[in-house]
Amino acid sequence: MTDPTDLIDIAGLLSDEERQIQETVGRFVADHVRPYVAGWFEEGTFPRELALELGKLGLLGMHLEGYGCAGTSAVAYGLACLELEAGDSGLRSFVSVQGSLAMFSIWKYGSEEQKQEWLPRMAAGEAIGCFGLTEPDFGSDPANMRTRAVRDGDDWILTGTKMWITNGSIADVATVWAQTEDGIRGFLVPRGTPGFTSRTIKQKLSLRASITGELILDEVRLPDSARLPLARGLGAPLSCLSEARFGIVFGSTGAGRDALRAALDYANSRIQFGKPIAAFQLTQEKLANMAVDLNTAMLLAVHLGRLKDAGTIKPHQISVGKLNNVRTALAIARECRTILGGSGITLEYSPLRHANNLESVLTYEGTSEIHTLVIGQTLTGHAAYR
Ligand code: FAD
Repeated sequence: MTDPTDLIDIAGLLSDEERQIQETVGRFVADHVRPYVAGWFEEGTFPRELALELGKLGLLGMHLEGYGCAGTSAVAYGLACLELEAGDSGLRSFVSVQGSLAMFSIWKYGSEEQKQEWLPRMAAGEAIGCFGLTEPDFGSDPANMRTRAVRDGDDWILTGTKMWITNGSIADVATVWAQTEDGIRGFLVPRGTPGFTSRTIKQKLSLRASITGELILDEVRLPDSARLPLARGLGAPLSCLSEARFGIVFGSTGAGRDALRAALDYANSRIQFGKPIAAFQLTQEKLANMAVDLNTAMLLAVHLGRLKDAGTIKPHQISVGKLNNVRTALAIARECRTILGGSGITLEYSPLRHANNLESVLTYEGTSEIHTLVIGQTLTGHAAYR
């Protein structure tokens, strides 16, 4: 039977192993997330126990090799992100930040001791990581960050503030990026280090089932062994962001798919003027347009995944995927809400929750404007963002 959210048999482009991983994650979300996620969203919480479950499933750092990580293909990782974000963008954000930002920064730029100390526990979900790049005054423009790391004998002294940090106030270790006299460097700051505090950002209207925090570094003294030895310059944090953005290309499509399924179910069961609203042409036009856009987004995700697995993907190609798929998913989630009418404004149905979440996804990991200008730079050779 044709899956209404996969009209062109994208599943046929996947290997058996990729389909199995997708199904396993989909089942996990159905059993452990879907029944509870509206409550987490309403309360503004992310249950920490879920980290251990995600670790048991092998989803944390799943595309990394060694140190307790599964070493799957990029497409398999993307499909896992898709199923997680079909549950909630907050859940996918947790997995992205843990695996693609915090763990990836250690895996790619850390010393052997740092990898041994943190990666196995992070893969198991026993230790939670975060990634502090953005600051209150520097978001799209991280090159001008104010956080400083200054040498003091063999140690470093870190001072500054990081803002909007996913998992910031629950993390056991923070990868913190700071200016030094030799350019931007990364440091691992364990929770409890004197001078290092965090606070949870409240009153969010988006990504509520995710903890977002502020990191405050007040003359934090760290040994040189806390520095990521291979990270030099802004390229290091940007390479981590490319990893996480790739997950968003797939993940956002999952949010769109879940919204579309909710709207399809509702349209077939809601009767007005004596027939299901699905039988009205205007509803069908909405559903058909959304299905076409969703299928196109999915095709783009799989294509970019194959490029990533081949090792040939370029940053502007990830910008194409992030820009297109997040704005497509956001438009779908909003349109689905209209099909649900008044019922669409409560947490009983997923589309408006997804739409609210996708507002954050549109902004983080490079805003839609910045990705537009990255593509503009590729087309014209002019960097209009600076
Ligand atoms: P600004 O950079 O101030 O931008 C404001 C507006 O101006 C945007 O529309 C932007 O596109 C536009 N703009 C800025 N510069 C230009 C330009 N040159 N040309 C055209 N338009 C421009 N950061 C982390 O380091 N780690 C995290 O874990 C993390 N998690 C996050 C979680 C959430 C829920 C959110 C909302 C953010 C998170 N961020 C994180 C921060 C995120 O990456 C930034 O919010 C984002 O980079 C934008 O920065 P800003 O909010 O300071 O906006």
